[in-house]
Amino acid sequence: MFNCDLCEKELDFVLLNGYDVGDRLLEGVIFKISKKKNGKYKAELYNEDDWAYCNQLNMKMFFKDMEGWAGETDIAECPNCGWDVGMNDDYPLTIEDKKSMLKMLVNDKINLSEKVKKEIVPKRIISLKREIEKG
Ligand SMILES: [Zn+2]
Repeated sequence: MFNCDLCEKELDFVLLNGYDVGDRLLEGVIFKISKKKNGKYKAELYNEDDWAYCNQLNMKMFFKDMEGWAGETDIAECPNCGWDVGMNDDYPLTIEDKKSMLKMLVNDKINLSEKVKKEIVPKRIISLKREIEKG
């Protein structure tokens, strides 16, 4: 299970870009990364349509590479809002973390979809302010 600090959802999986393991061969191919009961990562294609292209590649190898990479990288993407999700963060955000996150959201220094900026960000700005006030 992963946690997103922006949309505040518990996530069964996060996303990683194939570029990380396959360079240009897998650029733009998105992998769905989940955690198995034994703590190991499982990689699958996020878009089933990508099989049309990926079928010609050694995907057995790339899935294995991606599962290894998932264990090394710190950051993946939230499938719900696009925010960076920590792969190993099972601790809550500190006040300092929250302050810098609030700053980023308020200054709009973020690469998120317009939909997320409209629907999720304003709510999170309010809840962050509240959490920071409380201390
Ligand atoms: Zn999210």
